[in-house]
Amino acid sequence: MSTSLLYHAFGIRGYKHVNSSYDGSKVTFKIHQRKTDLCCPECGSREVVCKGTVTRSFRAVPIGLKPVFIVLAVQRVFCQACSALKQVQTGFADRRRSYTRQFERYALELSQKMTIQDVAAHLKVSWDVIKDIQKQNLIRRFSRPKLRKLEQIVVDEICIGHGQQYLTVVLDLRTGAVVFVGDGKGADALEPFWKRLKRCRAKLRAVAIDMSPAYIRAVRENLPGVAVVFDHFHIVKLFNEKLSDLRRRLYRQACSQGNKDVIKGTRWLLLKNPENLDESRNELQRLQKALELNKPLATAYYMKEDLRQLWSQPDKQKAYEFLIDWIYRAGSSGIDMLRRFAKTLATHLDGILAYYDYRISTGPLEGTNNKIKTMKRQAYGFRDIEFLKLKILGIHATRYALVG
Ligand SMILES: [Zn+2]
Repeated sequence: MSTSLLYHAFGIRGYKHVNSSYDGSKVTFKIHQRKTDLCCPECGSREVVCKGTVTRSFRAVPIGLKPVFIVLAVQRVFCQACSALKQVQTGFADRRRSYTRQFERYALELSQKMTIQDVAAHLKVSWDVIKDIQKQNLIRRFSRPKLRKLEQIVVDEICIGHGQQYLTVVLDLRTGAVVFVGDGKGADALEPFWKRLKRCRAKLRAVAIDMSPAYIRAVRENLPGVAVVFDHFHIVKLFNEKLSDLRRRLYRQACSQGNKDVIKGTRWLLLKNPENLDESRNELQRLQKALELNKPLATAYYMKEDLRQLWSQPDKQKAYEFLIDWIYRAGSSGIDMLRRFAKTLATHLDGILAYYDYRISTGPLEGTNNKIKTMKRQAYGFRDIEFLKLKILGIHATRYALVG
């Protein structure tokens, strides 16, 4: 094989081809570096003295079905300029990597369409090698997102399965990119983010969060003057949770009164948006029957439907009037659950209505969340939490096959 083929096919330049061997299952090219080309890996000086060699073998792109190995006796040199005693740098592979850069690029290309497992099987390397290649690439591209131009963000936590493990995710609403992934949930998870934000002097204007006291405090402390918008999806979700609790309580009551069949199986009907009720399964009729027979449930249900209108008012003033009216009606409904919810909304009034200044929500995070769910479903490889975090940071831009 010619030395120029070495360059054009395998991305190896500045080395001489010595010989090729074929042993049935693989192809090996032995190459050689001229002594005159040696230089110090630390300072670049050519004033070096050879101190023996270490024979190393590198994976290169395959030829057809045959894996290719590049074998090189890597020189150790002593530098007379800086006194370093080290192996010289190989021009075609990264330090401490046993594959060529071109092999790496090839693996990344395949990774766009195939799982780690598929790529590893195809290239006849271990799963860890491909994972490592992906990880290094993610680190290069996404480990330091630029925060300076952030204006509007959303902060939310995602559950990553096993044992209530959480990650906290910050999304740039302008670009749709995840700009931070923190360990755990709550205020602590965000500490590194605030530090980075301060360093790059970002001029944030608004942040969407849920109504959790930990987030509220963290945002107020670290982003003074930035508008807090309470995410409306979370508010409706919270109401739905309370509605479920109420239904469960009423169901228990109905059981003792012998009416349980009416409420039984209505949980999903209550939580569904009415426009999504399935006619073919009589969902609307079943829901209505349950509501007729149970006044408190009916009231809470209609109050939920009402609450959803809060985010489609013509302007902030109308929304304010609507919310005050809702809080008044809920407060005087005689239903404990509604009364408590009214109180919650009343104490978070500003942040709820701030939606009319900045129309932001966790909606855009939803798509990202779904992708993350797909990724984590095949738990493989995400024992390495750093890898998972990098994948999330790159989720908007990478076209990796999402499964591991
Ligand atoms: Zn040197």
